[in-house]
Formats: sequence, C-alpha cells, structure tokens
Amino acid sequence: MDQVDTVVIGAGVVGLAVARALALQGREVMVLEAAEAIGTGTSSRNSEVIHAGIYYPQGSLKAHLCVQGKAMLYAYCAERGIPHRRCGKLIVATREAQVGQLQAILGKAAANGVNDLALLTGEQARALEPQLACVAAVQSPSTGIVDSHALMLGLLGDLENAGGLLAVNSALDRAWRHVGGAPAGWVLVAQDGTEIAARTVVNAAGLQAPALARRFEGLDARHVPPAYFAKGNYFTLAGRSPFGRLIYPVPEAAGLGVHLTIDLGGQAKFGPDVQWVDRADDLAVDPARGDAFYAEVRKYWPALPDGALIPGYAGIRPKISGPGEPAADFLIQGPADHGVPGLVNLFGIESPGLTSCLAIGAHVAGLLATT
Ligand SMILES: Cc1cc2nc3c(=O)[nH]c(=O)nc-3n(C[C@H](O)[C@H](O)[C@H](O)COP(=O)(O)OP(=O)(O)OC[C@H]3O[C@@H](n4cnc5c(N)ncnc54)[C@H](O)[C@@H]3O)c2cc1C
Repeated sequence: MDQVDTVVIGAGVVGLAVARALALQGREVMVLEAAEAIGTGTSSRNSEVIHAGIYYPQGSLKAHLCVQGKAMLYAYCAERGIPHRRCGKLIVATREAQVGQLQAILGKAAANGVNDLALLTGEQARALEPQLACVAAVQSPSTGIVDSHALMLGLLGDLENAGGLLAVNSALDRAWRHVGGAPAGWVLVAQDGTEIAARTVVNAAGLQAPALARRFEGLDARHVPPAYFAKGNYFTLAGRSPFGRLIYPVPEAAGLGVHLTIDLGGQAKFGPDVQWVDRADDLAVDPARGDAFYAEVRKYWPALPDGALIPGYAGIRPKISGPGEPAADFLIQGPADHGVPGLVNLFGIESPGLTSCLAIGAHVAGLLATT
C-alpha cells in the first residue's frame, strides 16, 4: 500500500490551494481528483469575480476569508503573472425603495473591514457607465476578475514544485481509520480498489464533500451537513459589453441577483440565477429561463436588445442550507470540531470560495498545524 503524509480530495481551486499551503509547510501532499483534469467542477463554472467581501455577516468565515483572500489573491496574481483586472463594480438600486438596502450594504461592508465603497447618485453612476439605469449605486473599487484556470495552474505548479503530487482519474470511495501500527492514520480506498495510507486527509470534494464525509468511518454523522444544490444559469451577451465595470442589482435571497460580469476577453455574461435542483450533475441551461433574464437585466440596462442573450453555462452552488433557509457560512471542520484526528472537511464552499481560496488554504494549514 502506498503511504503519504497528507491526501487532499478534490483538485478544484480550493483543494489545490489547500494542497499548496500544506506542501509549502513542508508536508508530503498528494491530491486525488476523480475527473481527468483539475478544475472541471464548480471551479470552472462560476463568475470568476474577485469579491470585495461586502455582503457576508460580520464575524463569519465568509467575511473573514473573503477579505483576507482577496488581498492574498491580488498579490499572488501580480507576483505570478496570472491574468486579472481590478475593474470595480457597481451595486445598483433601480427603485427608490432599494436605496435603504444600499445603505445597509455600506454598513455591512464597513463591519467586514471593506472601507473603500462609495455611495453614488444615479447621475454619478451614469457618468461612469452611460448605459446604466439606476437611482443610486454603491461603487466597489476593489472588486475584480481573474482567470480561474490560470490561477489553478499556478497553484498546481507551486504544489508540484514543493514536491506534491496530483493523481487524476482517482475517485475516493471511502476511508477508515487504522490505529494499530505506527503511525496511526487513514486507509483511503479509491473506487478502483487501490488503497493509500495517509496520516492526514482533507476533504475538498466540493458538491460531493458531504456525501464523501458520510463514507469516512468513525466520523459521527451529526458533523456532516445535508447537501443542497442551487444551480446558477448564465446567459452570454451577443456583441460588445455595454459596461466596463461589473453591474450587480441589490442581492436576492439565495444568490447575488442576475448580474453582469465580464471576462478578461471582454465577453459579457448575465447570471447566475437560482434554480434548486436534485442532482449535482444537472448542468444543462434551459433556454426558456432567458425570458426572466430579460426582465431582470432591463431593470438596470433598458437597452438590452431582444434576442441578445444566448444560453451559456451553469454552475451548481454546494449549499448546506436549503431553499428558504438563511445562507449558511463556510463550514470548515478540523479535529477540534469533530473529534477525529487527521481529518478536515470543507462543506458549503460556495461563493466567495474562489476569492477566498488562498485564505482557506492558510486556514486549513492552521487547523492541522499541530498534527
Ligand atoms: C454559479 C456560481 C458562481 C460563482 N461565482 C463565484 C465568483 O464569482 N467568485 C468567487 O469567489 N466564487 C464564486 N463561486 C464559488 C466558487 O466557484 C467555489 O467556491 C469554488 O470553485 C469551490 O472550489 P472547490 O475546489 O471547493 O470545488 P470544486 O471546484 O467543485 O472541486 C471539487 C473537486 O472534487 C472532485 N471530487 C468530488 N468527489 C471526489 C471524490 N470522491 N474523489 C476525488 N475527487 C472528487 C471533483 O471532481 C472536483 O474537481 C461561484 C459558484 C457558483 C456555483
């Protein structure tokens, strides 16, 4: 049986960032990835936005790791030449009744340590973005966009330079703890029957993390949250982007509203919406959902032409709270939380998981520092 110090399950942006952080600590790290390549899951099905850290409850992991992760990510991208742009964003109130929500957003951001926001009048916002319809807006200058694939390649490169290994086509089936012999640790059983012994395991399996954790023998089921899947559909815009900044409506219940983001190539897309689904692989975009997009987008961009929205792609949020429930925080459990040595589970790493990835890596490395 192969033996390795630490195994990270999942080669999405979070698993790779965690593996990199652990390898840079001097650990021997192997990443097991079920798919044939890195980053084929949620990490390549998102908005690629570097979030400022505005919306999350004060004191939450989301708030802390997003603000810390944003700074780490900008520094990492600059140092490593990873394509990114600090393009800024406007959060827009399209009705007077929403202006109070903008004030609340300013307060929440300040509580999270995001102090660079400005409240703009409709005229001031239109001076920046002439095609915008709004009565007021919040400007966030530190919001940006990043090439998530280049980022993941950078993280993988660092991992490999530090001696780490990536095994693709290697789905983990289950794990059990062995205490006899030295050192104590885990026996990991891959779907093809291969066994690997590891002292420490990090479950960063994204949408599959709760299901996988239930197959970790010795982990009490009460430490594993339920999994819910909230699909976010995107529609791309035919033609040039009318805006140079990201445009967000004031947020809705389970997502941030049908917003406009641009990628580094200048392609504009609208989304994601929120569609609760039963399966983690339900990724088709129903063109009929575009009808609702027209109405939403025209609230802030009345000039959206008929027929301009083209079904794009979808990503699924790894939710651990269901429809109608308050949004859950990231749930990152180490041995002190669940009582099982040598195990960290990452649950509910939805947005801002991409922004936070380097901070999550440091956080997990901290949880395991004494093991
Ligand atoms: C619609 C949408 C928009 C988003 N927009 C943003 C944004 O703009 N900014 C932002 O900061 N965040 C955003 N996010 C969140 C961000 O995309 C995620 O937080 C992040 O990608 C999660 O990365 P991950 O590595 O945890 O998961 P994943 O990328 O899903 O990686 C998990 C990996 O685990 C593998 N795996 C699963 N089971 C096993 C197994 N048994 N054995 C081995 N491997 C396994 C999978 O194949 C997969 O590769 C968005 C998310 C969604 C859904």
